[in-house]
Formats: sequence, structure tokens, C-alpha cells
Amino acid sequence: MTETPAILVTDLVKDYGDVRAVDGIGFTVAPGEVVGLLGGNGAGKTTTISMLLGLLLPTAGRIEVLGGDMTGGARFAVLPRMNFASPYVNLPYRLTVFQNLKVYGLLYGIKGIDARIRGLARDLDLEPFLKTPARKLSSGQKTRVTLAKALLNEPEVLLLDEPTASLDPDTGDFVRAYLETYARESGCAILLASHNMQEVERLCGRIMIMKRGRIHAEGSPADLARRFGRASLEEIFLDIARAPSEAAS
Ligand code: ATP
Repeated sequence: MTETPAILVTDLVKDYGDVRAVDGIGFTVAPGEVVGLLGGNGAGKTTTISMLLGLLLPTAGRIEVLGGDMTGGARFAVLPRMNFASPYVNLPYRLTVFQNLKVYGLLYGIKGIDARIRGLARDLDLEPFLKTPARKLSSGQKTRVTLAKALLNEPEVLLLDEPTASLDPDTGDFVRAYLETYARESGCAILLASHNMQEVERLCGRIMIMKRGRIHAEGSPADLARRFGRASLEEIFLDIARAPSEAAS
């Protein structure tokens, strides 16, 4: 029997007025797979993730998450089984970290929410600032809280938009190690948009490189290295980014 993909995207298009942000992409992510989404500024990564969450409606194409159509009513059955983290999403700033996580936990209908928060606080080193209002957090602390929020409901699909963007090298490494273990132990499918090549090489079994709304290259880090005759993902990324658009694939 073939396994239902965690994420199945077909012929996906998104136009903002005259701007075609996503231009007919298709891909799958299997349960337990960690897939990297790379691309320069404006390539269409955030737009893709927003459509996967059902926050933006596609102009055309189809998105299924855990077998449910995210553009239709099935979305409401699927959303409790998925989650996302982005440093660009603001937490309610007057609430403490604990209160923030509790509100999200209650929205997700999580049983034993206090124990779940305490467990995540221990794992992600949030204990020193659980009682701090969100407005007083440093951006690195906020990023870790956002990640805890994303893991509250033990998601089967996790969308991460630059999860370590504002972290110092030590904390970034800690979060990457945590995600590596989480992905291995939970069987969660993860789509990771990032500008950090080492992060993507470390965490992702497969990588998709977007440019101007299209996927220009896809494969394991080793496949891509062979195909492009390059030693590092950074060199491959630069080859694609700097090639004239039509020649990039
Ligand atoms: P970055 O790495 O800079 O975050 P990205 O790959 O996430 O970039 P998107 O934010 O998805 O890229 O943007 C894709 C394209 O869509 C860009 O040309 C951008 O200017 C445009 N765009 C994004 N959001 C909007 C919007 N709300 N209205 C109009 N155009 C938008």
C-alpha cells in the first residue's frame, strides 16, 4: 500500500495582482521526511508556506496535507495536526511566555497543557523566562518560544520559516540539534525554509531550491552536489541565484 504523503502540492500558483509569487510548483513530503526549501529573497518560500497553512488561498493548484484539501473544509480537521514557526509572527506581547503557550495550548485543545509546557520549557531552555512578558524577550528568546509554540500539539507536519534566523551560533546549534532529534523520534514531516545552508545540509534529506516562484533544483545534498559539480550547497545556491533565469535549471 502506498503511504499518504504528509504534504502533496500540485501545480501551485499564487499571484499578488500582477506579481506571480509562486509559479506552478509541485512536490511531496513524506511522513518523517525533513525537506529544505531554499531560495533568495522574494523566491516564494513564505508564500508557499502560507498557502500550506491555509492562510493564503492559491490562485490555482492543489494542496493536500495529511490527505486533506487545505483549500476546502478539510483544513479545519488538518490544522490541529500541524503547526508552524516563524520569527516574523508576533506573540501577544503583554502575556508572559507561560500564558502565551497556555493560550495556544488551549486553542489546540491539548490535554495536560501545563505539563506539556513545562516539558518543552525544560527541553528548549525557556525556564528562566517563563514568567517574562513576551515584549521583554530578546529576539533569540522569542524564537525559542515560537518553536515551543509550534511543538505544543506534537504536530505530524511542521512548517518552519527560518527557525534559527536570530539565534547566536551556540543557541542556533542547540535548536538544530533539538529539531534533528525531534524529527527522528517523532516521525514528523518537516518543511524547513532557511537561508542557512549548513542548517539545511545538516537537517534535510532532500532540498528544493526556488527561484522566481519555481523549483529550479531538487534532490539530496549529495545528488545536487553531483549534478552541479559543486562541493557545497552554498556554491550550488549561488550558481542558481546568479544564472540568467531561463538557464538556471
Ligand atoms: P524572503 O527570503 O525574502 O523571505 P520569500 O522567498 O519568502 O522571500 P515571498 O515573501 O514568498 O518570498 O515573496 C515572493 C514574491 O511575492 C516577492 O516578489 C514579493 O515581493 C511578493 N509578495 C509577497 N507578499 C506579497 C503581498 N502581500 N503583496 C504583494 N506581493 C507580495
